[in-house]
Amino acid sequence: MKRLYMLGPCSIDSEQHLIATASHLKGLGVQVLRGGTYKMRTSPDSWQGLGEEGLRLLTEVASEFKLSTLTEITDLKHLDLYLKHGVDILQIGSRNMYNYPLLRELGSCGLPLLLKRHFASSLDEFLLAASYLDAAPRVFLCERGIRSHDTRFRFTFDINAIAWLKKNSQRQVIADPSHGTGERDYVIQIAGAAIAAGADGIMAETHPMPELARSDARQTIDLNQAARLVSWCETLAAVLPESPPLSV
Ligand code: PEP
Ligand code: MN
Repeated sequence: MKRLYMLGPCSIDSEQHLIATASHLKGLGVQVLRGGTYKMRTSPDSWQGLGEEGLRLLTEVASEFKLSTLTEITDLKHLDLYLKHGVDILQIGSRNMYNYPLLRELGSCGLPLLLKRHFASSLDEFLLAASYLDAAPRVFLCERGIRSHDTRFRFTFDINAIAWLKKNSQRQVIADPSHGTGERDYVIQIAGAAIAAGADGIMAETHPMPELARSDARQTIDLNQAARLVSWCETLAAVLPESPPLSV
């Protein structure tokens, strides 16, 4: 594979769905299974995730299919659970990009981290937030869309960010076209655009039956779309001048 793919549900909802997803993704050459467990929902009345049961499902299913795991941590008091279950990469969500005490603590927890850009942050603020994580063995920077004057899309994917981050940081840059558009029909196109702009990998919300997804259903692609996304991004990556090294 020429690029890194982190695919899976916004939030893990059932073992059966997760196994179907992992099995299909493994066949595509995807390296990382993502899945929300403790969710940061805008409304306290929205589905908050399966919590520790989600961590167990994610790590067990991923190990069955020899995939690495990525899931968001929202609260330091859960860190021991993430370590106990053996999560490979911790995601720091966009809403926590400004939570400097959390960044500092996670920076020294010993695990690779994926930091999402806050949807209102400047690129300079994003890189400064990432420097709180300097002690971490690896930090992925994830562009996930920003708020603009446009209201047609949930967020506006900032393609400039991909090119700028590649030029101004040594970190691997991951594009999240799911949150970056909010609509599944645009996810593959914007993923391809991010690869063309130099992204090292793609994170995309994937579910065997997106309409049943308990969070972010509108922006979640199905398994066939996941296959098209990977094949399109790999095709584009193959004609780009330089391929970055790949490892998790
Ligand atoms: C997510 O990845 O499901 C998520 C909540 O992302 P963000 O923090 O970018 O909104
Ligand atoms: Mn989501």
